[in-house]
Amino acid sequence: MKIVVLKFGGTSVGTIEKIKKVAQIISNYKKKKYKVIVISSAMSGVTNELIKKSIEISNNFSNSEHDVLVSSGEQIACSLIAGRLIHNGFKARSWLSWQVPIVTVGSYMNSRINLINKNKILKYLKDGGIPIITGFQGINNENRITTIGRGGSDASAIMFAKFFKAEKCIIYTDVEGVYTTDPNKLKSAKKIKVISYEEMLEMASLGAKVMQPVSIQDARLNRIDIEVKSSFVKKSGTLITQRSNIVNNKIVTGISSTQNDSKVSLIGVKDKPGVAAAIFKPLSKNSINVDMVVQNISANGKDTDLTFTIKTEDLNKTQKIFQKNKIIKYKKLIFEKGVSKISIIGVGMITTPGVTFRMFQALAKKNINIKVISTSEIKISVLIDKKNTKKALIALHKEFKLDNKK
Ligand code: ADP
Ligand code: ASP
Ligand code: MG
Repeated sequence: MKIVVLKFGGTSVGTIEKIKKVAQIISNYKKKKYKVIVISSAMSGVTNELIKKSIEISNNFSNSEHDVLVSSGEQIACSLIAGRLIHNGFKARSWLSWQVPIVTVGSYMNSRINLINKNKILKYLKDGGIPIITGFQGINNENRITTIGRGGSDASAIMFAKFFKAEKCIIYTDVEGVYTTDPNKLKSAKKIKVISYEEMLEMASLGAKVMQPVSIQDARLNRIDIEVKSSFVKKSGTLITQRSNIVNNKIVTGISSTQNDSKVSLIGVKDKPGVAAAIFKPLSKNSINVDMVVQNISANGKDTDLTFTIKTEDLNKTQKIFQKNKIIKYKKLIFEKGVSKISIIGVGMITTPGVTFRMFQALAKKNINIKVISTSEIKISVLIDKKNTKKALIALHKEFKLDNKK
């Protein structure tokens, strides 16, 4: 059986007109004799609206009810797509996660798909039907609805491609593919033809919203090639695949940036074993994600200064944790909102010397101050003032010759 998984993001199903277009794309695959499995996200903006409602009804809304509520947008989109396909003369129906079922493990709001029961969907495909399946949602072993994290329909699609051994897995979205940087932020961004899982994972984790990071991890583990393309224009997109399939590795493949980061500095912390652990334990207990971390010797040469970044939405919680703490001793605590992390990503970096220098020099030339640095084998990230984000993107995009020459 020639199976294709087609995933449509919120923007692709954002209006009735767009859903009609999506139905057209689906029927084109059907005409090419594919068995088509469709995964849909909620219409754009719907999930955010539902989250807002949950906050309005209670500032302590239960996580399990949260999942029932916020995953309901997918049900609407799926039934509209199925309705349009039926209108066009196709056999189609919506499938909610519990009807498949799509079994998840882990906590509410952040579950992971563990198993997809194939029986009913396979029978439906063999009978010529087009299943339109809710992305983002699953059920757990208590038969309760779960969700798999924001942007999670990407991961739903990859898991369907895995369980059904699909020939293709296509992610339809509102841009033509993965670009060297967010094309909505930088006009000169260039579409990338092919990118490795490793680079895509870094780009996604460091701010490129076009693919959800978990979905890339799942694709890499299961060696699933992903095509990312536009649901609005008929053009080739981006292939996400194994590194060994890529011939010409660039030094820098892409640049990502984050918004809404904050920096926390503890000045004059006693320099003895166990201090860093004592600082990070309460943060971890409160599910606060700590990102970049640096430690250096204080001005007096005896103590240390510890700096780390968190999401700005966690800033209040973090402030309270440190104010309440009686164990950790320090001289001064500084919180800084409005910082942004810019990262350059590329496997070619491994074999090319001087990349760090080029990045720092390009930023220095534009008078952009670097606050924190972190690196891995295939990426370099720097923390800068948020107001300099665009300037830094432009400078680095130029430095590493990523501009689209029209
Ligand atoms: P969908 O609704 O299809 O899931 P998303 O909004 O999740 O779409 O992702 C698409 C958006 O990702 C684009 O509109 C674009 O602004 C953003 N984006 C960020 N970084 C990149 C990048 N490097 N390449 C392409 N798009 C990017
Ligand atoms: N609708 C969900 C969200 O907005 C899932 C998705 O878009 O993939 O996060
Ligand atoms: Mg998305």
